[in-house]
Amino acid sequence: MIILKLGGSILTKKDLEDPEVNYANLNRIANEVKTAFDNKSNNPVLSEGLIIIHGAGSFGHPPAKKYGIGEAFTEEQYPKKRIGFSITQNCVKKLNTLICDVFIDHEIPCVSVQASSFITTKNKRINSFNLDLIEKYVNEGFIPVLYGDVVLDDDLKIAVLSGDQILQFIAKNLKIKTSKINNSQSKKEVILGTDVAGVFNKNPKKYDDAEYIPKLSSLERIEKFDSTTNIDVTGGMIGKIKELLELADIGIESKIINANEPKAILNALEGKKVRGTVIKRDN
Ligand code: ADP
Repeated sequence: MIILKLGGSILTKKDLEDPEVNYANLNRIANEVKTAFDNKSNNPVLSEGLIIIHGAGSFGHPPAKKYGIGEAFTEEQYPKKRIGFSITQNCVKKLNTLICDVFIDHEIPCVSVQASSFITTKNKRINSFNLDLIEKYVNEGFIPVLYGDVVLDDDLKIAVLSGDQILQFIAKNLKIKTSKINNSQSKKEVILGTDVAGVFNKNPKKYDDAEYIPKLSSLERIEKFDSTTNIDVTGGMIGKIKELLELADIGIESKIINANEPKAILNALEGKKVRGTVIKRDN
């Protein structure tokens, strides 16, 4: 099974305050997903299933930031927070609809799965997420599409749930059986398409001398932490790497690739070699 994350930086114009889809990227990537999925018998891992998760980009981060979703608040502030929650939930839902519209135009059998309708967190970490339905959709040949959202939180009442955390939870916990006879489990591959060529020792968009890191096993080699834009409420690249190191701890490798590059997603889904940073622990 492949779990593919399409970053908000790829599918939206993330540095804009006003939400805007990057249709050039979305159409190209939809084409690549369609081609790979149609030929999935060529890649045994893909033929076991595909789940897509997308970020919130310029649809989710600005309202979540404006209303301080995820920050502590008083009872008097709750009415305003609720509205902020509603606005953010609605914005990311719209983005998901626009993405699924394009996927369906390309005849991709996607099914939208809304985190806020059934996932909850405790102090910003997932504590309730029933994967049964997702497993059933995958087994029926659908491609579930999840996305970064706002959710109810047991401690904070409401919180932002990043697509990267959803990806981590699914990769860790979803069990797709490949054989009914011996109960064997599907191999999991995690691919993240973002707008840079992988992980560098500092932000390559800001520093010309940033060094590319082909294999990452800890946060040690990263000198400076910052996110793409000041509107990211989920930790940007560093938040992503932390989630992926959790997967590395249990032996699941992931790879961050540049989805701006034509065919990078296609080649990754087809199991071909693609340049990017592999996140795995040293053995
Ligand atoms: P996405 O929206 O695709 O999930 P993010 O915006 O969260 O991705 O993270 C990708 C961004 O992280 C890149 O655009 C890059 O500018 C920024 N970034 C910050 N630090 C680094 C780093 N050390 N290596 C690579 N990218 C970094």
